[in-house]
Amino acid sequence: MRKAHASTRATEVREISKPDEQWRQELTPLQYSVLRHAHTERPFTGEYVHNHQDGFYRCAGCGSKLFSSDAKFDSGTGWPSFDEPAVAEAVELRADNSLFMRRTEVVCRRCGGHLGHVFNDGPTETGDRYCINSCSLDFEPATADQEQGDGETGQPGTARG
Ligand code: FE
Repeated sequence: MRKAHASTRATEVREISKPDEQWRQELTPLQYSVLRHAHTERPFTGEYVHNHQDGFYRCAGCGSKLFSSDAKFDSGTGWPSFDEPAVAEAVELRADNSLFMRRTEVVCRRCGGHLGHVFNDGPTETGDRYCINSCSLDFEPATADQEQGDGETGQPGTARG
């Protein structure tokens, strides 16, 4: 019952859409290359690889709530890994056949930012391993309210930038 299937329905028009030049100015060079050009940060370099705090991981591009610390596990790969998205509709999955591999790309539905890939070798009951670039995420530590289950606090990401 726990498994939250991410949607594979493609979205052409993004809720958050900006000219490339604006993304380049607003993001760090690494975030820009990962989020906007689907590059991959070097393993074991991201600040959230070993983060075990409670909270939510939002898209570094648009602030959309993507993953909960409840879904995070230690994959040993060097990238933050989750067994499901916090909100299924928040991420979009696309076939990625680049680099001579068949992979499934994970994209932020709201801004189209590249987050990472999802693999079906996850160790939990969902079977999924969302392998996500640290730099494409912004961690938001849980507040006392959220720990009591009132986790929906709107989408402050719209005020970013
Ligand atoms: Fe986003």
